[in-house]
Amino acid sequence: MSVNNITVCPHCNLNMELKMAPFERDGVIIGNFEAYVCPNCGRAFYTNNGYQELNKFTMKKKN
Ligand SMILES: [Zn+2]
Repeated sequence: MSVNNITVCPHCNLNMELKMAPFERDGVIIGNFEAYVCPNCGRAFYTNNGYQELNKFTMKKKN
């Protein structure tokens, strides 16, 4: 779903900002995770750190 270690948006060819980006799943925001976010199109590319944190949430199953 995302490519790690990208700092330039492949769609806009613009430098992206490193910040905490909200991740939404099924219409619910799970949390904010470290990502490079394009200031033009708003796409978020999660960093390795952000992605690992994200997986902790998305891999959780409801009891
Ligand atoms: Zn872009």
